Amino acid sequence: MTAVHTDNYPESYYFSTLKYNHKYPVLESELTADVCIIGGGFTGVATAIELAERGYSVILLEAFKIGWGASGRNGGQLIRGIGQNLEGFRKAIGQTGIDAITQMGFEATQIVIDRIKKYNIDCDLTMGYCDLATKPKHLADLHADYQKLQKNNYPFDTRLLTEKEVREQVVDSSLYLGGFEDMGSGHLHPLNLCTGEAKAAADLGVLIFENSEVSEIIHGDVVTVKTAKGQVKAKTLVLAGNAYLDDLVPEISAKVLPAGSYIIATEPLNEELVKTLMPGNHAVCDQKIDLDYFRLSADKRLLFGGMCNYSGRDPKDIKAALYPKMLKVFPQLAGINIDFQWGGKIGIGANRLPQLGRIKPNVLYAQAFSGHGVNVTHMAAKLLAESISGESDRIKYFALVEHMSFPGGKYLRAPLLALGMMYHKLIDAIK
Ligand SMILES: Cc1cc2nc3c(=O)[nH]c(=O)nc-3n(C[C@H](O)[C@H](O)[C@H](O)COP(=O)(O)OP(=O)(O)OC[C@H]3O[C@@H](n4cnc5c(N)ncnc54)[C@H](O)[C@@H]3O)c2cc1C
Repeated sequence: MTAVHTDNYPESYYFSTLKYNHKYPVLESELTADVCIIGGGFTGVATAIELAERGYSVILLEAFKIGWGASGRNGGQLIRGIGQNLEGFRKAIGQTGIDAITQMGFEATQIVIDRIKKYNIDCDLTMGYCDLATKPKHLADLHADYQKLQKNNYPFDTRLLTEKEVREQVVDSSLYLGGFEDMGSGHLHPLNLCTGEAKAAADLGVLIFENSEVSEIIHGDVVTVKTAKGQVKAKTLVLAGNAYLDDLVPEISAKVLPAGSYIIATEPLNEELVKTLMPGNHAVCDQKIDLDYFRLSADKRLLFGGMCNYSGRDPKDIKAALYPKMLKVFPQLAGINIDFQWGGKIGIGANRLPQLGRIKPNVLYAQAFSGHGVNVTHMAAKLLAESISGESDRIKYFALVEHMSFPGGKYLRAPLLALGMMYHKLIDAIK
């Protein structure tokens, strides 16, 4: 990655409704801190808050703008849970680890809710989420999820919904056979959350620098981190560049596939349409491998996302690719204008478990949150801070799991995975 100086974000609905438009300076001097953080997305910013709240001096370096990566461009769906199939890690982490990560999957969402409240962050938080089934197999999966949550004492209201209930209460579409509603999950404006959290961090004394891409790390008891115009010396370094980290730390970048995901935002919908289209104002996802995810914004646009792209190449025309998918769900939107279209890179790991750990005793990292980063980044930030302060070693459940590097190296890993995913999408479509 070679960053160019920018005072703006890529075009998106979120940028057009940005509330915390603070410009942080470029690093142009030599500074010291207890902890230096590379990356100004949710992971970096939330870690900065966690550490500053514990009394550490923190410097955060972002290559572009706060929230410039996936954190400021995502679907804004705040969904409980961590990882996809924790049973698969039993050998590495045992029942204790499975139970601990399950509970952290609930804690993660609560951290976000509490953070918004504590720092009074204006980011349209709305509770209510629903998983949608398009096949009988999905219904069975949702039923199993429901029972698992009951067994684990999930503290929020959940309900299995029939086809009729989905249509009347969640999504007015003939596509869905049923759903699973979770009132402990919901949706929000991610760029306003991330930049609002950055403001909270700065108020706590964190020094934030934008347009300050880190180009070199010199390891030692004190780590030196260099940018084009300055440097930071810190006792501890946190790597939070995720899918955008690229060549800076190849040993962890190789374990993440930067997959593209894309969103279109309609013009604001009229009140009648809003009442029928998504009457409960939920965030929703279907269960396909090539999933659709959508919700209403605070100003009543439909934000429709999907089309996870593993090839490493963005589609030429995002609207042309997503509009037909949106019409399949809502034929009643034919002719509606699309005001915004954008995409970003999701960091995906091979086994879908977030990757957290240390590459040196004083260098920690967190990445690969797949499509669940809005909540899990915040849990990861807490675990990093707990580990740095010696408060707990809960991070160990993640560090104990081995993560494979994607085969094919920097240039071939995306095309190779794209081939594999085409196969899985095909099987998913015919099953
Ligand atoms: C289109 C899209 C839709 C999504 N939808 C959802 C959703 O609805 N719900 C959900 O939970 N998750 C969703 N996700 C995933 C979620 O957004 C991510 O998991 C999460 O934002 C990752 O946060 P992060 O801070 O780890 O990484 P990022 O937000 O990508 O931040 C990394 C930052 O590091 C910076 N950086 C990298 N290298 C350097 C360097 N050398 N020097 C300085 N800075 C550097 C980058 O510029 C970037 O700003 C979606 C993602 C995308 C792209």
